[in-house]
Amino acid sequence: MEYSIALLRGDGIGPEIVDSAVLVLEKIAAKYGHKFTFTPYLIGGCAIDETGVPLPEETVKGCLESDSVLLGAVGGPKWDGLPGSSRPEKALLGIREALGLYTNLRPARLYPALKSASPLKDDIIGRGFDIMIVRELTGGIYFGERGFREGRYGREAFDTEAYSLTEIERIGRAAFETAMKRRKRLYSVDKANVLETSRLWRSTMHGLAEEYPEVTLTDMFVDNAAMQLIRDPSQFDVIVTSNMFGDILSDEASQVTGSIGMLPSASLGSTKRGMYEPIHGSAPDIAGTGKADPIAAILSAAMMLRYSFSLETEAQAIEAAVDRVLEAGFRTADLMGADDGVPLTCTEMTNKIIEVIL
Ligand code: NAD
Repeated sequence: MEYSIALLRGDGIGPEIVDSAVLVLEKIAAKYGHKFTFTPYLIGGCAIDETGVPLPEETVKGCLESDSVLLGAVGGPKWDGLPGSSRPEKALLGIREALGLYTNLRPARLYPALKSASPLKDDIIGRGFDIMIVRELTGGIYFGERGFREGRYGREAFDTEAYSLTEIERIGRAAFETAMKRRKRLYSVDKANVLETSRLWRSTMHGLAEEYPEVTLTDMFVDNAAMQLIRDPSQFDVIVTSNMFGDILSDEASQVTGSIGMLPSASLGSTKRGMYEPIHGSAPDIAGTGKADPIAAILSAAMMLRYSFSLETEAQAIEAAVDRVLEAGFRTADLMGADDGVPLTCTEMTNKIIEVIL
């Protein structure tokens, strides 16, 4: 089969890790008889430098014409002084909205070979965990009305959270479908003791639960969820939550794995076209040094094969290769202590993974 992939390399380590993922996809193409065509487009700081805007129209058009999108990361100190509306990160909200990507899937899984990298105690980590966070991505407080006004105590800033029934239903359905493909346990995280949007969220999830009798639905307040993720992450399977709660909880879950350079994500909408990217940022502190861990980008490419192209065998081939390399003890600098020997560079880690794709 032939698939077109838009490459948004972005800034910092973005180009290095996206190029690693491309090499892995080329190996998969050769091995399984597929053809991937890659077309690069500008996004973020590099787009500002070349065109004056973080998300050029040509990039949006190119992504809309592609079968899928692979993104590195955007941003860096060079553009930190710009006002909010013209910063590189603004492009992320823009491209998600333009592509209608309302579902964000973030797996947070503990790799047995990397247990020591987790900040949790051995008895908690010993139980292992494999969580899928389903975060609503195009609604809620990040997209609500905001501004400044005169309030009771003088000038004040405000942001508003609004969720429609339709928005909650479509993310809820995505979460129930995800749970059906896993261990059939869904935790819906909200703040229904305080927020009206959460009360609508909760009742909508319960309505959907009637359509998925095999899935066990549990409600959890967001403050409790934040505690439980540290106390016993093994209790979770799929978590569904709003845009802001998901942003915070998925970062917490990623820290619990102890390996920010390894976690991928998928952003999906109502078509097969998705956008796939590591959860980490552009890591300007290590850009160009060869220290970047390419695994998050490589696993993002695996998610693309699974969710956009329905190539499950090929996705598993990549994931198994990553497991094999880690089990064999190969590490990039982010996964090693100061006395653990010489780390692999980004290129060396990529080549090791390619070597063991069976
Ligand atoms: P970051 O994720 O870029 O870096 C945090 C720390 O993790 C750094 O020490 C970095 O070296 C390390 N790290 C991250 N990815 C790594 C990898 N693959 N291999 C090895 N080490 C890795 O977060 P930050 O420092 O807060 O942000 C840097 C820039 O990235 C900022 O401009 C921020 O706005 C941007 N950002 C972009 C995205 C995105 O594009 N989706 C997400 C988060 C942050």
